[in-house]
Amino acid sequence: MSEKQPDVIIIGGGAAGLSAAQYAARAGLETHLFEEMAPGGLLLNIDILENYPGYDKPISGFELADNFSKQAEQFGVVIHYGGIESLKRNDEGYFVVTSDDGIFTVPAVILATGAKRRELGAPGEIEYQGKGVSYCATCDGPFFKGKRMLVVGGGDSACTEALFLSKLSDQIVIIHRKDRFRAQRSLANNVEHNKNIETRFMHTVNEIKGDGKKVTSVSLHDSANNRDYEEAFDAVFVFIGSDPRVDLVPDVELDDAGYIVTDELMRTSIPGLFAVGDVRNTPFRQVVTSAADGAVAAHAANEYIDELRGQAYV
Ligand code: NAP
Repeated sequence: MSEKQPDVIIIGGGAAGLSAAQYAARAGLETHLFEEMAPGGLLLNIDILENYPGYDKPISGFELADNFSKQAEQFGVVIHYGGIESLKRNDEGYFVVTSDDGIFTVPAVILATGAKRRELGAPGEIEYQGKGVSYCATCDGPFFKGKRMLVVGGGDSACTEALFLSKLSDQIVIIHRKDRFRAQRSLANNVEHNKNIETRFMHTVNEIKGDGKKVTSVSLHDSANNRDYEEAFDAVFVFIGSDPRVDLVPDVELDDAGYIVTDELMRTSIPGLFAVGDVRNTPFRQVVTSAADGAVAAHAANEYIDELRGQAYV
């Protein structure tokens, strides 16, 4: 296999990775991006985005992903459609990246591998995705203004998103499988004292039901009283955590939830390795925050590469 030596490799082609690629290439770095599927990442799951800055009319996630990708390529980013086998740092501080398209040696790598959101696995969940079942309150909540919405989960995300939804409707029910929230106390308190939110502990989802076009009801299990019942809902928001994709970098520092720890320049505990978007420990996971992460990481990587090469020439 031939060895290639671009300036930076970006792993993952969602909003964070494509933004990092665009900024890196525009700054004059030879930039290669690897994406196993189509560029866009989670953007491709978003039907309509109303909150991406600069668009006065809603834009589909697919269209925005396509714009990100075309813009990156216009600045000279080379996109590889394939996987990365391994990522190792050699004694000179360079990364050796073994991919389906060959072996690359680079001074800096930006990891934008994202996180795989957890699904309930309940019947009806897949069938009604985009028809009432959602994993993003900011994206989809406004479509259910004034409607009856069920939130599933007990962590910070479920509580934060339930509070967001409580501004849109006074008919929010949050269920959690345990007898108390896992979320930070302040968030949990705000949920439990919110007049628009009804909290039900010791509850799980049996099945999400609908008329084929939209969610109409949910079958719930109340484990405290060992009973099942069905209740009408227009939407189900699932926030039961996600699993960041960090397999390529087993030695990097992670937080308690398994996300990569970064500083404000997106630097990880490994010099030359930057992490952006949903794979890192960020308080707000949005397309716009991912894109911003990418810009910051590209800028920081550029400075890091200058320093590394400067040192090598001394
Ligand atoms: P999380 O902390 O992992 O919480 C996931 C919740 O879902 C837990 O309550 C868990 O229940 C429940 N759950 C997991 N699998 C389930 C299943 N199959 N069925 C029903 N319930 C299930 O995830 P997160 O809330 O997305 O937070 C992820 C990270 O982002 C955390 O570090 C969090 O602090 C951070 N975050 C911070 C903020 C903020 O600071 N404002 C906002 C959002 C996220 P158990 O409790 O029983 O395990």
